[in-house]
Amino acid sequence: MSEIPSAPARSVLVTGGNRGIGLAIARAFEANGDKVAITYRSGEVPEGLLGVKADVTDAASIDAAFTEVEAAHGPVEVLIANAGVTRDTLLMRMSEDDFTSVIDTNLTGAFRVIKRASKGMIKMRKGRVVLISSVVGLYGSPGQINYAASKAGLVGIARSLTRELGSRGITANVVAPGFINTDMTAELPEATQKSYLASIPANRFAEPEEVANVVRWVASNEAAYISGAVIPVDGGLGMGH
Ligand code: NDP
Repeated sequence: MSEIPSAPARSVLVTGGNRGIGLAIARAFEANGDKVAITYRSGEVPEGLLGVKADVTDAASIDAAFTEVEAAHGPVEVLIANAGVTRDTLLMRMSEDDFTSVIDTNLTGAFRVIKRASKGMIKMRKGRVVLISSVVGLYGSPGQINYAASKAGLVGIARSLTRELGSRGITANVVAPGFINTDMTAELPEATQKSYLASIPANRFAEPEEVANVVRWVASNEAAYISGAVIPVDGGLGMGH
């Protein structure tokens, strides 16, 4: 009996893949046999991954990063727009800079990398875009008007991209994590963490790998007919939103 051929290694790029959820996603694709590159701004490149320095608020640095990845791994077939920041404060205290800087990284940053990746994907007539949003994008959260707006905007990007490029073998989906144990959530006051926990039906927080496995699957051939979807990984926190 002949063996089932394994899928060819794809060129995968994860923004903000040097730590947290992004690193777990990079490791999941690496375990899948793909060629994985990550962007990082500071610190070290995790072992075994191709690290390219880039800031998603800077289109020129994104372009240079893609050029480097293309030379090493070929055109990016799987793009994970993961880089994100928070700058939480109540509306009354939120400055315009608090708002626009979060939008610039989380939303415009995703636009910049998707635009750069789309050229190669259109040429190849295949591609997978996964945008890392948040339960907060559709559920809302006090003190996170900037962050929630940026994360809700990703849904509009994924759905419009699906309508623009769906006929070219390209899918675009949103993964919306709930409360995941990373540096981002470690910063939250204990009282905030407790109140989140009380509203999570699973009664626990999750590890980055639990998000990574879903991202890997939605970028796989098995998920070829899923596009424009918002996939929650939140222990039931956002049901119905
Ligand atoms: P971390 O704070 O642990 O990591 C954030 C990552 O984004 C880092 O790699 C960071 O790079 C990178 N990054 C931030 N700003 C930029 C920028 N301007 N250019 C390039 N890279 C940048 O966060 P998480 O791992 O927790 O979060 C990852 C994603 O998941 C984010 O989009 C976040 O909003 C989302 N998310 C997280 C949840 C959670 O509970 N943790 C829940 C829902 C969504 P550097 O190391 O250089 O700072």
